[in-house]
Amino acid sequence: MKPSHIEHIGIAVSNLETAISFYEKVFGLKCYNIEEVAEQQVRTAFFMVGQTKIELLESTDPEGPIGKFIEKKGEGIHHIAFAVEKIEEQLVHAEKMGVKLIDSTPRKGTEGLDIAFLHPKSTYGVLIEICENKKSVGFNSITNQRVK
Ligand code: ZN
Repeated sequence: MKPSHIEHIGIAVSNLETAISFYEKVFGLKCYNIEEVAEQQVRTAFFMVGQTKIELLESTDPEGPIGKFIEKKGEGIHHIAFAVEKIEEQLVHAEKMGVKLIDSTPRKGTEGLDIAFLHPKSTYGVLIEICENKKSVGFNSITNQRVK
């Protein structure tokens, strides 16, 4: 699969505002984006740390995935996201390797990424997301198409 880097680390928090101010005050990081994903019942906040982001996740519904996660495990690291290319091919590859998939086809995530989750039962207990920024390298903003 060869991920190029850790795109982000997702951290489940009970209160987005207090967690944002913690990261800003203690680490001197700047929250540059807040995004709600209604279908995932989550509100997210982003910080850049080098080329890796910290993604804070607050549940908007106790029955949502983050709400359930916090109820079961408390606040903490929820997932790690690897940046990959050709995400569709990576999912086929992972499945061939016997990895259980949560998403067999990519879906739209935050920050305009195409994302898919691998099942933690197949990945040593860590929820791993693979994601692809199809607009990054070689993206032509005029034709709206990839150059390479
Ligand atoms: Zn994520």
